Amino acid sequence: MARYTGPVCRLCRREKIKLFLKGAKCDSARCPIEKRPYPPGEHGRDRLRQGSEYQAQLREKQKARRIYGVLEAQFVNLYEEANRSQGITGEELLRMLELRLDNVAFRAGWGASRSQARQLVRHGHVAVNGKRVTIPSYRVRKGDEISLAPAAREMVEIRHNLDTLDRQLPAWLSDAGERMAVTVFSLPLREHVDVPVREQLVVELYSK
Ligand code: SF4
Repeated sequence: MARYTGPVCRLCRREKIKLFLKGAKCDSARCPIEKRPYPPGEHGRDRLRQGSEYQAQLREKQKARRIYGVLEAQFVNLYEEANRSQGITGEELLRMLELRLDNVAFRAGWGASRSQARQLVRHGHVAVNGKRVTIPSYRVRKGDEISLAPAAREMVEIRHNLDTLDRQLPAWLSDAGERMAVTVFSLPLREHVDVPVREQLVVELYSK
């Protein structure tokens, strides 16, 4: 599956908010948004003005896509699935994004960023119910156990991340064994999803 491979700090500056796409750098003084808190490009500062309603909706959608590392076509498919579901569309959309396997690996603290977690999945270091899964967008279900493959448990990067990040598990995940495995305890509710996205604006954008 394709993914964005360009410079990621520009994405944060474009959204004028930290999206935490680079792991440790995001919490350091090297974060570019600290020095240049305006959109990139020659006319970046001009974009600080308040935009239209459409621009606000567009920016929320772009923010959600960029946080989870999802391309437009995949995001539209998720939105349509969320729209067909019984629940509140915006919340369903966020729930689907949270249940991605790469996001679970990120939430478990195995990857410093979602892109690193995605790479761990792609390289076969993550298993669902004991079976290796290499699809980052794989959607986990309630009751699933997501674990690190035995060889991955000794990987320097993962051990470093577990030791230094000290990431709290969200309420919908439980530790199934010294952070080497987590279980989907329940499906995530909106209050469990800490991403700074106003999902209602995303729904308004796609409902036009
Ligand atoms: Fe965004 Fe992290 Fe880059 Fe800062 S360091 S601009 S938070 S990706």
